[in-house]
Amino acid sequence: RAKNDLSQRICYYEKDMDELVKARRRMSVELRDAIVRDELEIHYQVQTLVVTGETLGYEALLRWNHGPQGYIPPGEFIPLAEQTGAILELGEWVLRRACADAALWAQPYTVAVNLSAVQFNHSDLPKLIRDVLEETGLAPHRLELELTESTVFADGDRARNILRQIKALGVKVALDDFGTGYSSLDTLLSFPFDKIKIDRAFVHEALTNPQTIAIIRAILALGHGLGLSVLAEGIESEDQLNILEVEGCTEGQGFLLGRPQPMADLVAAGHLVLRPGAGERLAQRPPPD
Ligand code: C2E
Ligand code: MG
Ligand code: MG
Ligand code: MG
Repeated sequence: RAKNDLSQRICYYEKDMDELVKARRRMSVELRDAIVRDELEIHYQVQTLVVTGETLGYEALLRWNHGPQGYIPPGEFIPLAEQTGAILELGEWVLRRACADAALWAQPYTVAVNLSAVQFNHSDLPKLIRDVLEETGLAPHRLELELTESTVFADGDRARNILRQIKALGVKVALDDFGTGYSSLDTLLSFPFDKIKIDRAFVHEALTNPQTIAIIRAILALGHGLGLSVLAEGIESEDQLNILEVEGCTEGQGFLLGRPQPMADLVAAGHLVLRPGAGERLAQRPPPD
């Protein structure tokens, strides 16, 4: 009887696996067409000065508007896109769209774009970035690329070389999710970052775990000591914001300061002002081919 139960369970398990594999295959086929079908969107989340609340820029966060299933969050489809290689196309689309959008803003805010390790290792990133800046007319210092430690760790020498070329264009580079990766200190010293983003896990625990405060304090001392700006991610409450301010963190991002939103909503709310003529340029955007 016990044996029966087990083989039945294995049978269910295999069926589940089978479903999972099928679902992933279905999703990867649909993902390939997402650009063509115009199903990708960018939502922008504000980054501000902690003390004054002044806007510094916006992070571009990819959204897949999958008709029947609604928005699929990037955590669900980016790993898949990385496995299938579709991330190269998606990543290029995000970069181009985010730079084109930011070039329409009347205020010279920065726009931060996330890069995947796959883009870093399997495409001519410096050339792509140069081309996109030229096409969109965005001033290079207004573009900030966000990478994680795993991105630069895969192949350190290659990464250093690419980063150097990107920096030579005048583009800014930020280290995302800092504190959650591998050997953080070494990464910081040997790569030319402009900014560290303290992972939201630390901010989340800042009020309840005194050891976390010690870590935040250390990251701030390290970052500021190296002449980098430091931004805290995932700020959800006034208490978290206050404690970060007390610790001397100058920049912040999180639901308290602003949710990721479509550009049109930020414009409607008066947070973003478009340059004269931007409306026509938006209307003239070619439909996807
Ligand atoms: P990330 O770059 O660290 O982006 C911040 C994530 O935290 C976003 O999740 C954002 O919506 C979320 N967030 C912001 N404020 C808060 C807060 O106060 N509380 C909480 N709990 N969460 C907050 P999202 O948009 O789901 O993106 C998840 C991750 O997907 C990103 O993490 C980034 O690693 C990746 N991603 C997003 N867009 C792109 C893209 O265009 N390309 C690549 N390669 N990766 C992307
Ligand atoms: Mg990011
Ligand atoms: Mg992050
Ligand atoms: Mg992340």
